[in-house]
Order: sequence, then C-alpha cells, then structure tokens
Amino acid sequence: MSADLAARAAAADAADQLAHLRDRFTLPDGVVYLDGNSLGALPAGVPDRVADVVRHQWGEGLIGSWFGAGWWDAPERIGDRIAALIGAAPGQVVVGDSTSVNVFRALVMAQRLSGRDEIVVDATTFPTDGYIAESAARMTGCTLVAAHPRELTLSDRTAAVLLNHVDFRSGELWDMPALTAAIHDAGAYAVWDLSHSAGALPLALDAHGVDFAVGCTYKYLNGGPGAPAYCYVRADLLPRVEQPLPGWCSHGDPFGMEAGYRPATGATRLRTGTPEIISLLSLDAALDVWDGVDLAAVRAKSLALTTFFIDCVRALVPADRVTVLTPQTRGSQVALACDGAEAVMNALIAAQVVGDYRPPDVLRFGFAPLYLRFADALRAAEIIAKVLA
Ligand SMILES: *Cc1c(COP(=O)(O)O)cnc(C)c1O
Repeated sequence: MSADLAARAAAADAADQLAHLRDRFTLPDGVVYLDGNSLGALPAGVPDRVADVVRHQWGEGLIGSWFGAGWWDAPERIGDRIAALIGAAPGQVVVGDSTSVNVFRALVMAQRLSGRDEIVVDATTFPTDGYIAESAARMTGCTLVAAHPRELTLSDRTAAVLLNHVDFRSGELWDMPALTAAIHDAGAYAVWDLSHSAGALPLALDAHGVDFAVGCTYKYLNGGPGAPAYCYVRADLLPRVEQPLPGWCSHGDPFGMEAGYRPATGATRLRTGTPEIISLLSLDAALDVWDGVDLAAVRAKSLALTTFFIDCVRALVPADRVTVLTPQTRGSQVALACDGAEAVMNALIAAQVVGDYRPPDVLRFGFAPLYLRFADALRAAEIIAKVLA
C-alpha cells in the first residue's frame, strides 16, 4: 500500500511545476511543516531585508527614512501588492493593524453606509470575528444575528454580513460570488474574511463585487509572526466610507496638524496611526516569493496535495480512528477528528510532523502549496498511522 502511495508521490513531485518555489523558503531539515495556515514559513529573502531595514534605514537613515526609504507610503504600496493576489485593482487595499481591528473597521464602515440596524455574522466563524462583531453591533446600535453561511437570514434590516471565506476549523470553502450576490439582493454589504484563502487560491474580489474584505498576512502570505493585516474597500465605496478609527495617518493633510478631521482620498483613509514599519517591510520581502507565480497553478497543486493526503490517510490509518471533516469544496487544509486529538498532535509534533490542534477533537493540517511536496503529505500520513496504531 505504502509503495503504491510512494510511487504516486514521487510521480506527482516530479511533475510539479511549482516544486522549485520551495527553494524560496528556509525550512528546517526533517520537519514536515503543515501549519502554514497558522504561521507561514520563512521566505529566504526576509532576514537580510529586515536586517537592512533595521541597520541602514533606521540606524543610518533615522527619521529621513520615513520619506527617503518609502516608509510613509508602505501601507498603500504593499496593499497594492496584496491586491494583486486577491483579484483587486490597485488603490483599494491598505495594510496595517491586526485582522481583528480590520474586522471592526470594515463592519462599522458598512453599517454607517447602510444605516440599517442588524449585523449578521457567520456562526462558525473564527472567534475573534464574532467577538468584534458583537462589540461593533453594540456600538452602532445594531442587533447581532449569528447564522450559518448555508442559511443566512437576511432582511431589509441587514446592514452587513461578515463571512469567512474558508472555515478555519473544517477547511470548508464558501461560495463567494453566490453569497455576495445574495447579500446584495437583500441590500446589505458583504464583509469577507480572507485569512484562510489569500495565498492559497485565486480570488476575484473586484469581479465578484465584494464590498469589504480583511485578512491576515502571516498564514499563506508568510509575512511573519504578527505581520499586519489588510483591509479592502471597493473603489466606488471608498469616497463614501467613514472610518471608525480616524487617526492622523488617514487625514487629508496628516502633517498639517489640523484640529479638525477630514479624511484622505482613496485607500489612505483606511489607515489609522503610525505603521508597523519593521513587520510591514518583512511582509514586503515575503511577498517576493509570489513573483511570477500563477495562482491557478497554486490552487491546482493545493487540491492535488490535500486529495493525496486524504487518500493516504484513508489507506494507512484504521477507519475507526479518524474522521475526515474537510469536504470536497475546501481551502488548502485538511481537518481530521479523532479521540484524544490534543495528545495525538503533541505526539505528531514530537515526530516532526507539525500541524495543530483545535478543540474539541480536531487535528488541522495546512498544505501551503509553495513549499510542500507530495512526499511530505505521505510522510505525515505514515506518522499519523504510527501514532494512532
Ligand atoms: C487567523 C485569523 C484571524 C486572526 O486575527 P488577528 O487579529 O490577526 O489575531 C482572524 N480571523 C480569521 C478568520 C483568522 O483565520
């Protein structure tokens, strides 16, 4: 059984047109890293770039680097690089703050545009989105309604609907164009959290008419621990949105030090305070790994890798020990349910197969297509079988 699977892995790796991209990363020897959906691996160009930013731009350039080294515009400039990966034209994305903060920003902007009094949130969402939505609803005088993405309850009171593109636990991928259209039919705004899809599959925010989107950059975008998140607002809405966090960096004349607030034009109005320059520029260097990469090929490899991994698990692990939770329509991760999942994951990590555990009983394995091989998927399944034997 394992010999057949090994032959399949070898053939798939030999035919993999993205295989060379693994060299753009620094990965520890012997580790099968399946947690790139929590913290992406280190792109090889990042350490030298960060050292240069710290030693030269900061150490020598000092305050002159705000304009001399392009620090001031980094949130918009790097936002445009991310826009290219999520199907957005330039000028609609700004990078800064965490995903949690950007969820707040997007929901309040959407509610203020609509003037309605209900916010709908994906009941299965990553918890932070739900916590933030609850507070945003309270602050804007809205009722919060939790709904499953398959059964959205929309009405003429719905201001905004916050959805995750990929379920962080099961890996299920939701239908962005269909759900966005349904939300628009109800006269509401769609706010998508792309944390588990950007960098894993092609996105087409502009083409699907998405209103607002947010996402983090330290998962499939490999920006590094705590790398700043991004916020997208559709171009035609930008002139009308009112930021709930109108800091000086979003002002029309930030250095005029005016007492009164007036927003900058364009995506700059999505900024708040002084940008996180070191982590922003670490992200900037990390994004170089995408140069020349075709996201359709990334998606094809992602689906092939996760399919192969599920086949290996089904072939090698006794059927009564694990349940595959991840459906056919998925992002780039596979979730398995099993008894004692936390202890199982600890044993896997000790055996150099790094995934993660999510309560109550879920083992999560992320398959970052840029640096994983089919042989890694097989090795992970073999170790899972050994640990569960
Ligand atoms: C990872 C993730 C976040 C992370 O939020 P932070 O504010 O960056 O900690 C938020 N939402 C979703 C759906 C995520 O997967």
